[in-house]
Amino acid sequence: MKTFTLGGVHPEGNKLSRGAAIEKFPSPQIAYISLSQHLGVPAKPVVAKDDKVKVGDLIAVGEAFISANIHSSVSGVVDKIDDYIDTSGYKVPTIFIKVEGDEWNESIDRSQDIVRDIKLSSKEIIDKIKEMGVVGLGGATFPTHVKFMLPPGKKAEYLIINAVECEPYLTSDHRILLEKPDEVLIGTEILRRALNVDKAYIGIENNKQDAIALLTEKAADYEHIEVVALKVKYPQGAEKQLIKAITGREVPSGKLPIDVGCVVNNSGSTFAVYEAVQKNKPLFERVVTVTGKTVGKPSNYLVRIGTSCSQLIASVDVDLSQIGKIISGGPMMGKTLVSTDVPVTKGTSGILLMHTGESSRSLIHNCIRCAKCVQACPMGLEPYLLSAASKNEMWDKAEKAHIMDCIECGCCQFTCPSYRPLLDYLRVGKRKVGQIIRNRAK
Ligand code: SF4
Ligand code: SF4
Repeated sequence: MKTFTLGGVHPEGNKLSRGAAIEKFPSPQIAYISLSQHLGVPAKPVVAKDDKVKVGDLIAVGEAFISANIHSSVSGVVDKIDDYIDTSGYKVPTIFIKVEGDEWNESIDRSQDIVRDIKLSSKEIIDKIKEMGVVGLGGATFPTHVKFMLPPGKKAEYLIINAVECEPYLTSDHRILLEKPDEVLIGTEILRRALNVDKAYIGIENNKQDAIALLTEKAADYEHIEVVALKVKYPQGAEKQLIKAITGREVPSGKLPIDVGCVVNNSGSTFAVYEAVQKNKPLFERVVTVTGKTVGKPSNYLVRIGTSCSQLIASVDVDLSQIGKIISGGPMMGKTLVSTDVPVTKGTSGILLMHTGESSRSLIHNCIRCAKCVQACPMGLEPYLLSAASKNEMWDKAEKAHIMDCIECGCCQFTCPSYRPLLDYLRVGKRKVGQIIRNRAK
Protein backbone atom coordinates (compact mmCIF):
# COMPACT_ATOMS: atom_id res chain seq x y z
CA MET A 1 0.00 0.00 0.00
CA LYS A 2 1.24 3.48 -0.88
CA THR A 3 2.64 6.07 1.51
CA PHE A 4 5.40 8.71 1.58
CA THR A 5 8.94 7.54 2.21
CA LEU A 6 10.82 10.08 4.35
CA GLY A 7 10.14 10.31 8.10
CA GLY A 8 6.67 10.38 9.65
CA VAL A 9 5.24 9.03 12.89
CA HIS A 10 2.29 6.94 14.11
CA PRO A 11 0.37 8.79 16.84
CA GLU A 12 -2.71 7.09 18.32
CA GLY A 13 -5.69 7.78 16.04
CA ASN A 14 -8.25 8.45 18.80
CA LYS A 15 -11.02 8.91 16.22
CA LEU A 16 -13.63 8.87 19.00
CA SER A 17 -16.28 10.69 16.95
CA ARG A 18 -15.95 8.58 13.79
CA GLY A 19 -19.38 6.99 14.34
CA ALA A 20 -21.16 10.28 15.14
CA ALA A 21 -23.33 11.36 12.19
CA ILE A 22 -23.18 15.06 11.28
CA GLU A 23 -25.76 17.02 13.32
CA LYS A 24 -26.97 20.51 12.47
CA PHE A 25 -25.94 22.82 15.32
CA PRO A 26 -28.51 25.53 16.20
CA SER A 27 -27.84 29.08 14.94
CA PRO A 28 -26.27 31.35 17.57
CA GLN A 29 -27.98 34.41 19.10
CA ILE A 30 -25.10 36.57 17.93
CA ALA A 31 -22.74 35.61 15.10
CA TYR A 32 -19.16 36.92 15.32
CA ILE A 33 -17.91 36.78 11.75
CA SER A 34 -14.19 37.44 11.41
CA LEU A 35 -12.95 39.38 8.37
CA SER A 36 -9.63 37.55 8.58
CA GLN A 37 -10.57 33.88 8.47
CA HIS A 38 -8.57 32.94 5.38
CA LEU A 39 -4.93 33.10 4.39
CA GLY A 40 -4.12 36.47 2.80
CA VAL A 41 -5.49 39.99 3.08
CA PRO A 42 -8.59 40.45 5.32
CA ALA A 43 -11.89 41.00 3.50
CA LYS A 44 -13.43 44.51 3.35
CA PRO A 45 -16.92 44.92 4.84
CA VAL A 46 -19.77 45.87 2.48
CA VAL A 47 -22.35 46.20 5.27
CA ALA A 48 -22.71 48.76 8.07
CA LYS A 49 -24.38 48.97 11.49
CA ASP A 50 -28.16 48.38 11.37
CA ASP A 51 -28.09 46.76 7.92
CA LYS A 52 -30.40 43.76 7.63
CA VAL A 53 -28.85 40.59 6.22
CA LYS A 54 -30.06 37.15 5.18
CA VAL A 55 -28.24 33.83 5.38
CA GLY A 56 -25.80 33.72 2.45
CA ASP A 57 -25.68 37.49 1.79
CA LEU A 58 -22.27 38.89 0.92
CA ILE A 59 -21.00 40.92 3.89
CA ALA A 60 -17.30 41.39 3.05
CA VAL A 61 -15.32 41.31 -0.18
CA GLY A 62 -11.89 39.80 -0.69
CA GLU A 63 -10.40 42.52 -2.89
CA ALA A 64 -6.74 41.49 -2.89
CA PHE A 65 -5.37 38.69 -5.11
CA ILE A 66 -5.04 36.38 -2.10
CA SER A 67 -8.21 36.98 -0.11
CA ALA A 68 -11.77 35.59 0.03
CA ASN A 69 -15.36 36.81 0.15
CA ILE A 70 -17.30 36.38 3.39
CA HIS A 71 -21.05 35.78 3.63
CA SER A 72 -23.47 36.01 6.50
CA SER A 73 -24.15 32.70 8.21
CA VAL A 74 -27.32 34.00 9.86
CA SER A 75 -30.24 36.35 9.21
CA GLY A 76 -30.55 39.44 11.36
CA VAL A 77 -29.16 42.93 11.89
CA VAL A 78 -25.54 44.10 11.85
CA ASP A 79 -24.90 45.27 15.41
CA LYS A 80 -21.36 46.58 14.97
CA ILE A 81 -18.01 46.03 13.28
CA ASP A 82 -15.30 45.87 15.89
CA ASP A 83 -12.20 43.94 16.95
CA TYR A 84 -12.86 40.55 18.56
CA ILE A 85 -10.52 37.77 19.66
CA ASP A 86 -10.26 34.77 17.32
CA THR A 87 -8.76 31.27 17.54
CA SER A 88 -5.25 32.68 16.96
CA GLY A 89 -5.54 34.58 20.26
CA TYR A 90 -5.33 37.96 18.50
CA LYS A 91 -8.08 40.54 18.06
CA VAL A 92 -9.24 40.81 14.44
CA PRO A 93 -11.89 42.99 12.75
CA THR A 94 -15.22 41.17 13.13
CA ILE A 95 -18.82 41.75 12.02
CA PHE A 96 -21.29 41.21 14.90
CA ILE A 97 -24.77 40.15 13.70
CA LYS A 98 -27.79 39.95 16.04
CA VAL A 99 -29.81 36.99 14.84
CA GLU A 100 -33.49 37.30 13.87
CA GLY A 101 -35.18 34.25 12.36
CA ASP A 102 -33.47 32.16 9.68
CA GLU A 103 -34.19 33.78 6.35
CA TRP A 104 -31.98 32.59 3.46
CA ASN A 105 -30.92 34.43 0.33
CA GLU A 106 -33.40 33.23 -2.33
CA SER A 107 -30.68 32.40 -4.88
CA ILE A 108 -29.46 29.39 -2.82
CA ASP A 109 -30.84 25.99 -3.89
CA ARG A 110 -31.94 24.49 -0.56
CA SER A 111 -33.45 21.30 -1.97
CA GLN A 112 -31.95 17.90 -1.07
CA ASP A 113 -31.63 17.00 -4.79
CA ILE A 114 -28.16 16.06 -5.97
CA VAL A 115 -27.28 18.17 -9.03
CA ARG A 116 -25.06 16.06 -11.31
CA ASP A 117 -25.01 18.03 -14.52
CA ILE A 118 -22.00 20.39 -14.59
CA LYS A 119 -22.88 23.34 -16.79
CA LEU A 120 -20.09 25.85 -16.16
CA SER A 121 -16.84 26.27 -18.11
CA SER A 122 -13.43 26.15 -16.40
CA LYS A 123 -13.31 29.94 -15.97
CA GLU A 124 -16.92 30.12 -14.78
CA ILE A 125 -16.22 27.41 -12.18
CA ILE A 126 -13.23 29.34 -10.78
CA ASP A 127 -15.23 32.60 -10.76
CA LYS A 128 -18.10 30.88 -8.92
CA ILE A 129 -15.74 29.38 -6.31
CA LYS A 130 -14.30 32.87 -5.77
CA GLU A 131 -17.75 34.49 -5.53
CA MET A 132 -18.87 31.91 -2.92
CA GLY A 133 -15.82 32.45 -0.67
CA VAL A 134 -14.53 28.85 -0.71
CA VAL A 135 -11.20 28.31 1.06
CA GLY A 136 -9.20 25.26 2.13
CA LEU A 137 -11.07 23.67 5.03
CA GLY A 138 -8.26 21.38 6.19
CA GLY A 139 -6.87 24.20 8.33
CA ALA A 140 -4.71 26.18 5.90
CA THR A 141 -7.66 28.33 4.62
CA PHE A 142 -5.89 29.19 1.35
CA PRO A 143 -8.48 30.68 -1.05
CA THR A 144 -9.48 27.84 -3.39
CA HIS A 145 -9.97 29.97 -6.52
CA VAL A 146 -6.35 31.19 -6.30
CA LYS A 147 -5.09 27.59 -6.18
CA PHE A 148 -6.91 26.82 -9.43
CA MET A 149 -5.69 29.94 -11.28
CA LEU A 150 -2.41 28.50 -12.52
CA PRO A 151 0.58 30.82 -12.98
CA PRO A 152 1.53 31.50 -16.64
CA GLY A 153 3.58 28.67 -18.12
CA LYS A 154 2.46 26.10 -15.52
CA LYS A 155 0.42 23.05 -16.48
CA ALA A 156 -1.36 20.66 -14.14
CA GLU A 157 -1.42 16.91 -14.79
CA TYR A 158 -3.13 15.61 -11.67
CA LEU A 159 -5.80 16.80 -9.28
CA ILE A 160 -5.41 15.21 -5.85
CA ILE A 161 -8.27 15.30 -3.37
CA ASN A 162 -6.93 15.15 0.16
CA ALA A 163 -9.27 12.92 2.18
CA VAL A 164 -6.48 11.68 4.43
CA GLU A 165 -7.44 13.42 7.70
CA CYS A 166 -4.29 12.13 9.41
CA GLU A 167 -4.57 14.43 12.44
CA PRO A 168 -5.60 12.34 15.45
CA TYR A 169 -9.15 12.87 16.82
CA LEU A 170 -10.54 14.77 13.79
CA THR A 171 -13.36 13.08 11.84
CA SER A 172 -15.21 15.85 9.95
CA ASP A 173 -13.78 14.87 6.55
CA HIS A 174 -14.46 11.18 7.22
CA ARG A 175 -18.12 11.92 7.99
CA ILE A 176 -18.47 14.06 4.85
CA LEU A 177 -17.10 11.18 2.74
CA LEU A 178 -19.59 8.76 4.29
CA GLU A 179 -22.62 11.06 4.24
CA LYS A 180 -22.00 13.08 1.05
CA PRO A 181 -20.05 10.73 -1.28
CA ASP A 182 -21.92 11.77 -4.46
CA GLU A 183 -21.39 15.45 -3.73
CA VAL A 184 -17.65 14.90 -3.06
CA LEU A 185 -17.31 13.02 -6.37
CA ILE A 186 -19.21 15.70 -8.31
CA GLY A 187 -17.04 18.35 -6.58
CA THR A 188 -13.96 16.39 -7.69
CA GLU A 189 -15.24 16.25 -11.28
CA ILE A 190 -15.95 20.02 -11.19
CA LEU A 191 -12.38 20.73 -10.04
CA ARG A 192 -10.93 18.29 -12.57
CA ARG A 193 -12.71 20.19 -15.35
CA ALA A 194 -11.62 23.54 -13.88
CA LEU A 195 -8.00 22.36 -14.08
CA ASN A 196 -8.50 20.63 -17.42
CA VAL A 197 -6.63 17.46 -16.37
CA ASP A 198 -7.34 13.84 -17.29
CA LYS A 199 -6.78 12.33 -13.87
CA ALA A 200 -8.07 13.00 -10.37
CA TYR A 201 -7.08 10.92 -7.35
CA ILE A 202 -8.87 10.82 -4.01
CA GLY A 203 -6.37 9.78 -1.31
CA ILE A 204 -7.88 8.14 1.80
CA GLU A 205 -5.95 6.49 4.66
CA ASN A 206 -6.61 2.84 5.34
CA ASN A 207 -8.13 3.52 8.77
CA LYS A 208 -11.28 4.71 6.91
CA GLN A 209 -12.09 1.47 5.09
CA ASP A 210 -15.83 2.21 5.00
CA ALA A 211 -15.15 5.46 3.14
CA ILE A 212 -12.65 3.78 0.78
CA ALA A 213 -15.22 1.08 -0.11
CA LEU A 214 -18.07 3.56 -0.61
CA LEU A 215 -16.11 6.07 -2.68
CA THR A 216 -14.45 3.31 -4.78
CA GLU A 217 -17.86 1.83 -5.63
CA LYS A 218 -19.33 5.22 -6.58
CA ALA A 219 -16.20 6.38 -8.44
CA ALA A 220 -16.77 3.52 -10.91
CA ASP A 221 -19.21 5.92 -12.64
CA TYR A 222 -16.42 8.48 -13.15
CA GLU A 223 -13.93 7.63 -15.87
CA HIS A 224 -11.27 10.07 -14.67
CA ILE A 225 -11.45 9.62 -10.88
CA GLU A 226 -9.53 6.99 -8.91
CA VAL A 227 -9.68 6.34 -5.17
CA VAL A 228 -6.28 5.50 -3.65
CA ALA A 229 -6.06 3.71 -0.29
CA LEU A 230 -3.00 4.86 1.65
CA LYS A 231 -1.07 3.28 4.50
CA VAL A 232 -1.71 5.15 7.74
CA LYS A 233 1.18 7.51 8.52
CA TYR A 234 1.28 11.06 9.86
CA PRO A 235 1.58 13.71 8.23
CA GLN A 236 0.25 12.17 5.01
CA GLY A 237 -2.32 14.97 4.74
CA ALA A 238 0.46 17.50 4.13
CA GLU A 239 0.51 18.41 0.43
CA LYS A 240 4.08 17.40 -0.36
CA GLN A 241 3.76 14.07 1.48
CA LEU A 242 0.43 13.27 -0.21
CA ILE A 243 1.86 14.02 -3.67
CA LYS A 244 4.82 11.74 -2.96
CA ALA A 245 2.52 8.97 -1.67
CA ILE A 246 0.17 9.05 -4.66
CA THR A 247 2.34 10.02 -7.63
CA GLY A 248 5.87 9.27 -6.38
CA ARG A 249 6.85 12.84 -7.33
CA GLU A 250 8.90 15.02 -4.99
CA VAL A 251 8.20 18.73 -4.65
CA PRO A 252 11.67 20.34 -4.35
CA SER A 253 12.58 22.74 -1.53
CA GLY A 254 10.98 26.15 -2.07
CA LYS A 255 8.71 24.87 -4.87
CA LEU A 256 4.95 24.35 -5.07
CA PRO A 257 2.82 21.29 -5.98
CA ILE A 258 2.15 22.82 -9.41
CA ASP A 259 5.91 22.66 -10.13
CA VAL A 260 5.47 18.86 -10.30
CA GLY A 261 2.13 19.10 -12.12
CA CYS A 262 -0.17 18.62 -9.11
CA VAL A 263 -2.94 20.60 -7.42
CA VAL A 264 -4.19 19.35 -4.05
CA ASN A 265 -7.59 20.19 -2.56
CA ASN A 266 -9.09 19.05 0.74
CA SER A 267 -12.19 16.79 0.59
CA GLY A 268 -14.29 19.07 2.83
CA SER A 269 -13.47 21.99 0.53
CA THR A 270 -14.38 19.79 -2.45
CA PHE A 271 -17.84 19.31 -0.92
CA ALA A 272 -17.99 23.12 -0.47
CA VAL A 273 -17.09 23.50 -4.17
CA TYR A 274 -20.03 21.23 -5.07
CA GLU A 275 -22.37 23.38 -2.97
CA ALA A 276 -20.97 26.62 -4.42
CA VAL A 277 -21.12 25.58 -8.09
CA GLN A 278 -24.19 23.32 -8.16
CA LYS A 279 -26.30 24.89 -5.38
CA ASN A 280 -25.13 28.51 -5.50
CA LYS A 281 -24.41 28.20 -1.77
CA PRO A 282 -21.66 30.35 -0.25
CA LEU A 283 -19.35 28.90 2.40
CA PHE A 284 -21.05 30.03 5.60
CA GLU A 285 -21.15 26.76 7.56
CA ARG A 286 -18.76 23.85 8.06
CA VAL A 287 -18.45 20.51 9.87
CA VAL A 288 -16.56 20.77 13.18
CA THR A 289 -15.48 17.78 15.29
CA VAL A 290 -15.86 18.39 19.05
CA THR A 291 -14.11 15.63 20.96
CA GLY A 292 -11.77 14.44 23.71
CA LYS A 293 -11.19 11.38 25.91
CA THR A 294 -13.43 12.66 28.73
CA VAL A 295 -16.11 14.05 26.40
CA GLY A 296 -19.42 12.19 26.93
CA LYS A 297 -20.73 12.89 23.43
CA PRO A 298 -17.93 13.23 20.85
CA SER A 299 -19.68 14.96 17.93
CA ASN A 300 -19.49 16.20 14.36
CA TYR A 301 -21.58 19.33 14.03
CA LEU A 302 -22.58 21.35 10.99
CA VAL A 303 -21.91 24.79 12.44
CA ARG A 304 -22.71 28.29 11.18
CA ILE A 305 -19.48 30.34 10.92
CA GLY A 306 -19.39 32.86 13.79
CA THR A 307 -20.89 30.52 16.41
CA SER A 308 -19.01 30.75 19.72
CA CYS A 309 -16.84 27.70 20.50
CA SER A 310 -18.18 27.84 24.08
CA GLN A 311 -21.63 26.83 22.77
CA LEU A 312 -20.19 23.78 21.03
CA ILE A 313 -18.25 22.79 24.15
CA ALA A 314 -21.37 23.18 26.32
CA SER A 315 -23.22 20.65 24.15
CA VAL A 316 -20.90 17.62 24.34
CA ASP A 317 -21.26 16.59 27.99
CA VAL A 318 -17.86 17.36 29.47
CA ASP A 319 -16.65 18.29 32.95
CA LEU A 320 -14.53 21.39 32.27
CA SER A 321 -12.81 21.11 35.67
CA GLN A 322 -11.08 17.97 34.29
CA ILE A 323 -9.87 19.73 31.13
CA GLY A 324 -6.30 21.03 31.04
CA LYS A 325 -6.12 22.34 27.50
CA ILE A 326 -8.53 23.18 24.67
CA ILE A 327 -7.15 23.04 21.13
CA SER A 328 -8.52 24.43 17.88
CA GLY A 329 -7.71 21.64 15.41
CA GLY A 330 -5.91 18.39 16.25
CA PRO A 331 -3.20 17.62 18.84
CA MET A 332 -0.30 17.63 16.34
CA MET A 333 -0.82 20.90 14.45
CA GLY A 334 -3.66 22.61 16.35
CA LYS A 335 -3.37 25.81 18.39
CA THR A 336 -4.27 26.12 22.07
CA LEU A 337 -7.28 28.35 22.65
CA VAL A 338 -6.72 31.25 25.05
CA SER A 339 -10.48 31.62 25.50
CA THR A 340 -13.51 29.50 24.59
CA ASP A 341 -15.42 32.67 23.63
CA VAL A 342 -13.87 32.64 20.18
CA PRO A 343 -15.97 32.11 17.08
CA VAL A 344 -15.84 29.20 14.66
CA THR A 345 -14.18 30.28 11.41
CA LYS A 346 -13.79 28.61 8.01
CA GLY A 347 -10.55 27.06 9.33
CA THR A 348 -12.00 25.46 12.49
CA SER A 349 -11.80 21.73 11.76
CA GLY A 350 -12.20 20.62 15.36
CA ILE A 351 -12.21 21.49 19.03
CA LEU A 352 -10.22 19.07 21.15
CA LEU A 353 -10.74 19.01 24.92
CA MET A 354 -7.68 17.41 26.51
CA HIS A 355 -7.95 16.26 30.11
CA THR A 356 -5.36 17.44 32.62
CA GLY A 357 -3.28 14.22 32.58
CA GLU A 358 -3.05 14.23 28.81
CA SER A 359 -2.25 17.91 28.41
CA SER A 360 0.45 18.45 31.05
CA ARG A 361 3.93 18.86 29.60
CA SER A 362 6.69 16.54 30.76
CA LEU A 363 9.84 17.97 32.28
CA ILE A 364 12.17 19.19 29.52
CA HIS A 365 15.62 17.58 29.44
CA ASN A 366 18.76 18.46 27.52
CA CYS A 367 19.14 17.32 23.93
CA ILE A 368 21.00 14.01 23.92
CA ARG A 369 21.79 14.17 20.16
CA CYS A 370 19.87 10.94 19.56
CA ALA A 371 18.74 12.15 16.09
CA LYS A 372 15.25 10.69 16.53
CA CYS A 373 13.81 14.06 15.47
CA VAL A 374 15.90 13.92 12.28
CA GLN A 375 14.60 10.44 11.46
CA ALA A 376 11.01 11.53 12.06
CA CYS A 377 11.12 14.74 10.01
CA PRO A 378 9.23 14.22 6.72
CA MET A 379 10.99 17.22 5.19
CA GLY A 380 14.51 15.91 5.77
CA LEU A 381 15.42 18.70 8.20
CA GLU A 382 17.50 18.72 11.38
CA PRO A 383 14.95 19.87 13.97
CA TYR A 384 17.36 19.86 16.95
CA LEU A 385 19.68 22.23 15.07
CA LEU A 386 16.87 24.47 13.78
CA SER A 387 15.24 24.80 17.19
CA ALA A 388 18.60 25.66 18.80
CA ALA A 389 19.29 28.26 16.10
CA SER A 390 15.83 29.74 16.66
CA LYS A 391 16.19 29.74 20.46
CA ASN A 392 19.53 31.55 20.13
CA GLU A 393 18.15 33.97 17.49
CA MET A 394 20.66 32.77 14.90
CA TRP A 395 18.34 33.57 11.99
CA ASP A 396 20.98 33.31 9.27
CA LYS A 397 21.88 29.80 10.40
CA ALA A 398 18.20 28.82 10.58
CA GLU A 399 17.58 30.09 7.06
CA LYS A 400 20.60 28.25 5.65
CA ALA A 401 19.36 25.05 7.34
CA HIS A 402 16.03 25.47 5.45
CA ILE A 403 13.73 26.39 8.33
CA MET A 404 11.21 27.71 5.77
CA ASP A 405 10.73 24.11 4.52
CA CYS A 406 9.32 23.13 7.94
CA ILE A 407 5.63 22.24 7.58
CA GLU A 408 5.03 22.53 11.36
CA CYS A 409 3.82 18.93 11.52
CA GLY A 410 5.19 18.33 15.03
CA CYS A 411 6.70 14.89 14.23
CA CYS A 412 10.02 15.98 15.74
CA GLN A 413 8.48 17.08 19.03
CA PHE A 414 6.28 13.97 19.16
CA THR A 415 9.31 11.72 18.94
CA CYS A 416 11.80 13.59 21.16
CA PRO A 417 12.70 11.55 24.28
CA SER A 418 13.84 14.74 26.04
CA TYR A 419 10.40 16.35 25.58
CA ARG A 420 11.96 19.42 23.99
CA PRO A 421 9.39 21.97 22.72
CA LEU A 422 10.87 21.87 19.23
CA LEU A 423 7.73 23.00 17.41
CA ASP A 424 7.38 26.16 19.50
CA TYR A 425 10.91 27.23 18.55
CA LEU A 426 10.40 26.24 14.92
CA ARG A 427 7.23 28.34 14.63
CA VAL A 428 8.97 31.40 16.11
CA GLY A 429 11.98 30.87 13.86
CA LYS A 430 9.88 30.44 10.72
CA ARG A 431 7.95 33.64 11.43
CA LYS A 432 11.15 35.63 11.98
CA VAL A 433 13.08 34.21 8.99
CA GLY A 434 9.99 34.71 6.79
CA GLN A 435 9.95 38.40 7.81
CA ILE A 436 13.65 38.75 7.01
CA ILE A 437 13.18 37.16 3.57
CA ARG A 438 10.18 39.41 2.79
CA ASN A 439 12.05 42.56 3.87
CA ARG A 440 15.01 41.59 1.73
CA ALA A 441 12.75 41.26 -1.33
CA LYS A 442 11.33 44.80 -0.91
S1 SF4 B 1 7.74 20.32 12.59
FE1 SF4 B 1 9.17 20.91 10.95
S2 SF4 B 1 11.17 20.24 11.67
FE2 SF4 B 1 9.64 19.18 12.94
S3 SF4 B 1 9.32 17.23 11.89
FE3 SF4 B 1 7.78 18.63 11.09
S4 SF4 B 1 8.72 19.52 9.25
FE4 SF4 B 1 10.37 18.57 10.43
S1 SF4 C 1 14.99 13.96 19.39
FE1 SF4 C 1 15.25 15.47 21.04
S2 SF4 C 1 16.98 14.71 22.18
FE2 SF4 C 1 17.02 13.61 20.23
S3 SF4 C 1 18.35 14.89 18.90
FE3 SF4 C 1 16.28 15.58 18.59
S4 SF4 C 1 16.01 17.30 20.02
FE4 SF4 C 1 17.79 16.14 20.69
